[in-house]
Amino acid sequence: MKTYWKSLEQNFYMNCVKRQPIVITRGEGTKVWDDNGKEYLDFTSGWAVNNIGHSNPVIADAISAQSRILVQTSNQFYTIPQLQLAQILVENSCLDKAFFCNSGAEANEGAIKLARKYGNIHKNGAYQIITANNSFHGRTLTTWSATGKPHDSDPFLPLPEGFVHVDYNNLQAIKDATRTDTVAIMLEPVQGEGGVNLPSPGYLSAVRQWCDDNDLILIFDEVQTGLGRLGKLFGYEVYQVEPDIITLAKGLGGGIPIGAFLAKDHAAVFEPKSEHGSTFGGNVLTCAAAHASTQFIINNEIPAKADDMGKYLIGKLLDLKETHSLITEVRGVGLLIAVEFNREISANLLTYCNQLGLLLNAPKPTAIRLMPPLTISKQEVDIGIQRLESGILKAQKE
Ligand SMILES: *Cc1c(COP(=O)(O)O)cnc(C)c1O
Repeated sequence: MKTYWKSLEQNFYMNCVKRQPIVITRGEGTKVWDDNGKEYLDFTSGWAVNNIGHSNPVIADAISAQSRILVQTSNQFYTIPQLQLAQILVENSCLDKAFFCNSGAEANEGAIKLARKYGNIHKNGAYQIITANNSFHGRTLTTWSATGKPHDSDPFLPLPEGFVHVDYNNLQAIKDATRTDTVAIMLEPVQGEGGVNLPSPGYLSAVRQWCDDNDLILIFDEVQTGLGRLGKLFGYEVYQVEPDIITLAKGLGGGIPIGAFLAKDHAAVFEPKSEHGSTFGGNVLTCAAAHASTQFIINNEIPAKADDMGKYLIGKLLDLKETHSLITEVRGVGLLIAVEFNREISANLLTYCNQLGLLLNAPKPTAIRLMPPLTISKQEVDIGIQRLESGILKAQKE
């Protein structure tokens, strides 16, 4: 990368992200290019965002057409893209009502408020929400508090109260943590940031049953798993468990920032009392993009393609595991996949793969995560695997 951009970053940008030394200037489909014109296969997809590929013309057309008509009005008025997006999401899910915001954290904030209001109305003020260790729900104070990590040494204390964290895949821990003031359980159908941790068979349906038995709201944080990533339009479909609320963001807008939460009617308890809203939430431009992207995903059966391509990619990774003993596990659903190693190799591996033209993510020192666009071709998977193998051979020598 040109050192000029590095110095601009150091001089002018808040020092809060560790970046790879690559300036990405252009993208198309599964590929991106840097400021020197070098080509990469992007298995990070803008952090599981570019589900329908970089620079998909469907998104470009939607935002350019919408931007010439209307870019922003307030929610004091009806707008058409917002209603059309709500319709397509509700008609293709088990949920009944949608609300739009601007990010995953904001979607989870909204879902948490909705659950607390449900507790306020129907459960004598119950407010506690059970979440899982190793979960990730966002970086606002409340979603940070909900996120399942130790918070004792956070520099942001005090955090909002009302969350209890239990081990994922442990139903008994949920039962033990449930009190009279518990109102909801919030889980990712597959834990993304935690390292692609899959639910064990029967876990999510047993949690659903526990929620039914105790009048608890089940929230699925589908910010990462939604919109085809797991090989179904929504992650809950993979496990055939219907939540009361889901949250969406990453893959929803085809790269345009938008978040959403959807609720079943009994849980959609907000009232028009200024208790929830957003200036930009449901904006016509972002909603037009998200509608175009969602329609593309549905019309082109992208979830089924992600399922096929995910199986193909996992097969290729299992082949690598046969020949490279440092790979201890390959796990994933659809195109949310992790490879686990027997040593802390992922930082070096990332550097080598990036140099070899493959962009990856390392959620843990011992694991890498693969989350390419859902439109990836077989040939691109093959090339990605070749580059990954070269990277592993190089990192192995360290
Ligand atoms: C990324 C992510 C979030 C936070 O989304 P932002 O848009 O970064 O606020 C929340 N939950 C899950 C599961 C995520 O993967």
